[in-house]
Amino acid sequence: MDICFIFLMFFQFTLIHCEFHHPWDWILKLCWIGTAEDHSVHHALVTYNYGHFFTVYDRLFGTYKDGKTTAKMTSHKLVK
Ligand SMILES: [Zn+2]
Repeated sequence: MDICFIFLMFFQFTLIHCEFHHPWDWILKLCWIGTAEDHSVHHALVTYNYGHFFTVYDRLFGTYKDGKTTAKMTSHKLVK
């Protein structure tokens, strides 16, 4: 079980750093799982979106910023 979670974690870490939108991002957002768009906000504005896997704590403590709403604030653009 631990190995499965570690594999999923590394897979997720790779996906959130790839700078691409994925067709399944809307499903991840529904489950409050971070996407590459969410994580690009963290790299551009360091004080937001700390969660690498889940966005629940960022949403609870007010540090979540949706990548769609902050795209205008940063020069960090994802490839579509
Ligand atoms: Zn990162």
